[in-house]
Amino acid sequence: MIATGTPAKKLRQRIGELEAQMIERRRDFHMYPELGFDEDRTSRIVEEHLGGLEGITVRRYTHTGIVGVLNADKPGPTVLLRADMDALPVQEETEVPYRSRNDGVMHACAHDAHTAILMTAATILSELRDEIPGKVKLVFQPNEEVGGAEDMIADGVLEDPVVDAAFAVHLWTPLPSGVIGVKAGCVMAGMDVFKLIITGLGGHTGYPESAIDPVITAAEIIQSAQTIQTREIDLMKPTAIMFAKIQGGTKNNIIPGSVELEGSMRYLYDGGPGSVENPGQRLDRIVRGLCEAHRNQYELEIERENTPVINDSAMARVVYTAAVDTLGDRTKVVEHASMAGEDFASFAARVPSCFYFVGTGNPQKRSDYPHHNARFNIDEDTMRTGVEMHLRTVFQYFEYRRKRQQ
Ligand SMILES: [Zn+2]
Ligand SMILES: [Zn+2]
Repeated sequence: MIATGTPAKKLRQRIGELEAQMIERRRDFHMYPELGFDEDRTSRIVEEHLGGLEGITVRRYTHTGIVGVLNADKPGPTVLLRADMDALPVQEETEVPYRSRNDGVMHACAHDAHTAILMTAATILSELRDEIPGKVKLVFQPNEEVGGAEDMIADGVLEDPVVDAAFAVHLWTPLPSGVIGVKAGCVMAGMDVFKLIITGLGGHTGYPESAIDPVITAAEIIQSAQTIQTREIDLMKPTAIMFAKIQGGTKNNIIPGSVELEGSMRYLYDGGPGSVENPGQRLDRIVRGLCEAHRNQYELEIERENTPVINDSAMARVVYTAAVDTLGDRTKVVEHASMAGEDFASFAARVPSCFYFVGTGNPQKRSDYPHHNARFNIDEDTMRTGVEMHLRTVFQYFEYRRKRQQ
C-alpha cells in the first residue's frame, strides 16, 4: 500500500524530518520517568499530542491510559498499535545528560522510546489517513511491568470500535541494531511465581535424630525440581524453574523449624493449569514426594503472574513482510523469542496479534546492557525503524485484509 500511495522514499523522508523531535521527546520522557499507573505527566503529553492531530479522537482509559482512534467514522477493520509508558524502580547509573531526574525511577526498558515512536507514527498516520481503508487504534498503555494491559481491556480498549488485530514493538538490546526479530507462536514466556514453606521440627545439630530437618529437604527439592525440564517435558519446550530466595535458621548449631523458598517458573509455551506440561503441578508432586520421604510438612502457593505472548501466524507474516520492506534485507529479519514476560499477552490472547522486537544493541553506543539494568540505554537511531515498522504493519495489515476478501 505504501508502495502505491506513498513511496517508501517519501515515507522515510517524512520520518527523517520528525526524527529530531522524536528523540527530544524520548529524552524528555527519560528525564521524567513515572512508575506504573503514575504516568500523569507522560500521558498528559501524549493526550495533547494526539488531540492536535487531524482525524484522531482521543479518550482516556483506566488510570493514565490514552487511546487515539484514527478514522473513527470510517468503515473497515480496526488495527491496534500499542506502546507502553511506565518506568521501573531502578536508580539510573548512566552518565547521559538526559538521565533520570526522578530519584529511584528509571526508563530501563525503553518504554520512553516506545511512547515517542508511537507518537511520531501517529503524526504520519494522521497525514496519511485518507489512504488508510479502516481505523487505527493508538494505545498508550500504563503499567506494562505489572500487567496494566488487563486493566485497559477491562475498561473496554478492545471495544468501540472492536479491534480486529493488534501489534506492538519492543526495542530490544539483546538483538543488535539493524535486526528485527519476529516469529509466529510463543515469543515471550509465561511466568508463575511460587512460595514454599517446608516445616520440620527444630533441634540441636548434635542430636539430629530428635529433630526433623527441613534444610536437607529444601536442598533436595531445589535439585530435583530441575529434572522437570530435563526429564519430564519436551526439551524443545523451554522451562526454567529458578529458586531465587531461600531463608531459614538463626544460628550455626540449631536445626531450624522451617525453611522458606521463593522462585519463579518460566515457560515458552502455553504451560498453564490444564496444559500437558503444567510445570506447576509437577513441582507440587516433587515437593509432596520429598516432604513425605523426609517427614516434613509443606505449603506451596503458586500464582500465575503472566501468560505467554503467543503470536498469530498470519499476523507474524504481516510483520515479517513489513520488516523485510523496512530493512530491505531478508537476512536481517530473524526469529526471536525471550524468556522475559510481557503483558501484551493479554491482547494476544484475545485478538490475532503479533509482538516483535527491533534490535537496539550497539556496543559502540553502550546500548548493549540488559533490560532493567541501571546502565540500560538504547541506540536512538533504531527509533526510526520502530516508526517505519508501525506504519508498514498498518498498511500491510490492510493489504492482507484486502487480499483475503478477493
Ligand atoms: Zn521491562
Ligand atoms: Zn518492556
